[in-house]
Amino acid sequence: MERKKKDIRALTKDQLRDFFVDQGDKAFRGNQVYEWLWQKSAHSFDAMTNISKETRSMLEEHFVINHIKVDQMQRSSDGTIKNAVRLHDGLVVESVLIPTETRTTACVSSQVGCSLDCRFCATARLKRMRNLNPDEIYDQVVAIDNESRLYFNRPLSNIVFMGMGEPLMNYNNVLNAIEKITSPEGLGMSPKRIVVSTSGVPKMIKRMADEKVKFGLAVSLHSAIDEVRTSIMPFNATFPLKDLREALEYWYAQTKSRITYEYVVWSGINDTKEAVDALVKFCKFAPSKVNIIEYNPIDDGEFQQASAKAVEMYQNILEQNGITVTVRRSRGKDIDAACGQLANKQ
Ligand code: SF4
Repeated sequence: MERKKKDIRALTKDQLRDFFVDQGDKAFRGNQVYEWLWQKSAHSFDAMTNISKETRSMLEEHFVINHIKVDQMQRSSDGTIKNAVRLHDGLVVESVLIPTETRTTACVSSQVGCSLDCRFCATARLKRMRNLNPDEIYDQVVAIDNESRLYFNRPLSNIVFMGMGEPLMNYNNVLNAIEKITSPEGLGMSPKRIVVSTSGVPKMIKRMADEKVKFGLAVSLHSAIDEVRTSIMPFNATFPLKDLREALEYWYAQTKSRITYEYVVWSGINDTKEAVDALVKFCKFAPSKVNIIEYNPIDDGEFQQASAKAVEMYQNILEQNGITVTVRRSRGKDIDAACGQLANKQ
């Protein structure tokens, strides 16, 4: 029976160095291979031209390199690109390139499907099948960086973990991927250009704070009233706002890093003054920014974007209370690439 080969990118640099020593070679060979695997994103051992042919064959005997494959790329009329990314086991996730005048942002997935059940989100309808490995997250970033260079003549500038899945439910792999993305031995990107967006898992927010991470934190809040939030994000019953708020206070005390709240205003759900007042009260304890995001209906119209007047009310009250607010137009709607629309509809 053929032995199942291990994915070489599951090995740390030290493990790779040890492997070469065990093979009677020099530890330094491990550094060379590691550089090919991460910094140069080699797809095959044959591409490793400064490694001898014998060594490459030996690697081939022991390992595979499980690369993602962009199965389908769709381009929106506004320049947004959506990639359907096939994983080594055939499952598919999506990632999105969002271009603006000055930036290219990659929106990447962290899980196949999602275990949470936000009622307004298309991904929630796919049950969570598995977590993505660090290399699968890293490869989505590399694919978007390549597309940015090809179509926009500039490298990728920012990354948001806002694609499919709840990143803090795949904590270790997400942090491991970020470590490689920011390492000079990987893509060398500044952590200041990365934002992890969570629906709010208090325990994991505290853990990130303890680890003094350098990337930004965004919380998909959508309501600061428990009853309303639980009705649209049922896991709020398990992680109520009181616990979330306490975790965010801890985050701010440890990191002194501003918190961003992602917020959609829906007609008949949170388009009232009471809802805005609750939001102000919730986030005033630390420097905060509220991103009001335009909603993209996913089907039957149960959730409808609120009126411009309601959005304006949010904007005015938040500003009066010294909270930074931006209103973001949705991007890539025509290719189902906008927030909450990622659902492998091909
Ligand atoms: S909004 Fe995010 S956390 Fe909620 S179901 Fe969708 S992917 Fe999961």
